[in-house]
Amino acid sequence: PSWEKRVTRSAQRRSSHGLTVLVTGAAGFVGTHVSIALKRRGDGVLGLDNFNHYYEPQLKRDRQKLLERNGVFVVEGDINDSSLLKKLFDVVAFSHIMHLAAQAGVRYAMQNPGSYVHSNIAGFVNILEVCKSVNPQPAIVWASSSSVYGLNSKVPFSEKDRTDQPASLYAATKKAGEEIAHTYNHIYGLSITGLRFFTVYGPWGRPDMAYFFFTKDILKGKPITIFEAPDHGSVARDFTYIDDVVKGCVAALDTAKKSTGSGGKKGGPAQLRIFNLGNTSPVPVSELVNILEKLLKVKAKKKVLPMPRNGDVKFTHANISLAHKELRYKPETDLETGLKKFVRWYLSYYPGSGKKSSW
Ligand code: NAD
Repeated sequence: PSWEKRVTRSAQRRSSHGLTVLVTGAAGFVGTHVSIALKRRGDGVLGLDNFNHYYEPQLKRDRQKLLERNGVFVVEGDINDSSLLKKLFDVVAFSHIMHLAAQAGVRYAMQNPGSYVHSNIAGFVNILEVCKSVNPQPAIVWASSSSVYGLNSKVPFSEKDRTDQPASLYAATKKAGEEIAHTYNHIYGLSITGLRFFTVYGPWGRPDMAYFFFTKDILKGKPITIFEAPDHGSVARDFTYIDDVVKGCVAALDTAKKSTGSGGKKGGPAQLRIFNLGNTSPVPVSELVNILEKLLKVKAKKKVLPMPRNGDVKFTHANISLAHKELRYKPETDLETGLKKFVRWYLSYYPGSGKKSSW
C-alpha cells in the first residue's frame, strides 16, 4: 500500500469515541508499549521515530516489527522536520500527541551535548510550533523526567518541589521542556500535560539502563560496577514497571482537555499539568542486583566504587498523590515481579544468553 494508505490505516480509530494519537519516539521503549496499548483498545495510532543509533538499532527495528504486527505504522523521520509533521497532520486530524521522542540517558550528554539540544529542546519546540499551527490543535502529553528534581534532597519528590538544580544536561533539557510547555500553554492556549517518569523498566527496555546491562554482564560473567554515594549511603531508584507507566500515559491522554487556541483569552485557561509517574518505593541498586542474581541464578562479580559526578543523582522517590487523584494512577508491580517479566523477555530475545548459569 502507498505511504498515505499506511498512515491513514494505522491512524484509523475503531470507534467514534476513540482517540487519534501521533506517538513520537514510537520505536523507543515506552513508545512501543504505549502505542500497542492504545491500538489494542481501539484508538488510531501513528508512530514517528528517527531510529537513531544511540543504542542497539536492531532492537528498535524489532520493536517496529512488533508494532506493525499490532497494526501500528511507524513513519521514519525526525521531530525537527516541520514539513514532514505538517504532511502527517494534512493526512490525519490527530486529537492527541504522545510526545516521547528524546535523547535519553544522562552520561551520553558528556560526549554528545548537541544531541540533547536537537531532540529535547529544538525538537520539542518544533512539535509545539506545528501543534499551534494546525486546526484542530491536538492535546499534547509529553515525557518529562524525575531528573528535573536534580540535587533536591527533599524526598519524596512532589510536583511543587524545587527543580532549579539539574544534575546533568539531560535533566536541564527536560526542565527546559517544562518551561517551554508553560510558555506555549500561556501564549497559544495549547493543552499540555508533562509526565515525570521515574526509572521505567521492563520487556523491550533500554540497553543503556542499569537493570538491562547488569543482566547482560551478569550472564556473561563480566564484573558489574555498583556506585556508592559520597556519604557511603546506597544509590536508590524508584523503579517503575512499564505497564504501570503505560496506564498513567493512557489516563493522561484520556483526561487531556482540548486546546483552547486562545492563550486562555476565551473559554478559560488551557490545561497545563505536570505529574509524577513513579512507584513510591525506592530500591537500592545493591538490592536490584540481589534480585537479578536470584532470577538469573548467577552470582554477580561486583565492584563497588564511589559515585562519579557524571550526572546521576543519589536517590529518587516519587510522591504520586496528584497522579493518583487526577489520573487514578496506581502502580501495581513490585520490582521483583517486574524484573521477572523483564528477565523472561531478555532470555527469549537473546537466546543462548542464559546458558552459563553458575549458581
Ligand atoms: P528511548 O530512547 O527508548 O525512546 C526514544 C525514541 O525516540 C527512540 O526510539 C529514538 O530513536 C527516538 N528519537 C530520539 N530523538 C528523535 C528525534 N529527534 N526525532 C524522532 N525520533 C527521535 O527512550 P524511552 O525510555 O522510551 O523514553 C521515552 C521518553 O521518556 C523520553 O522522552 C525519555 O527522556 C523519557 N523518560 C524515560 C525514562 C525511562 O526510565 N525510560 C525516565 C524518564 C524520562
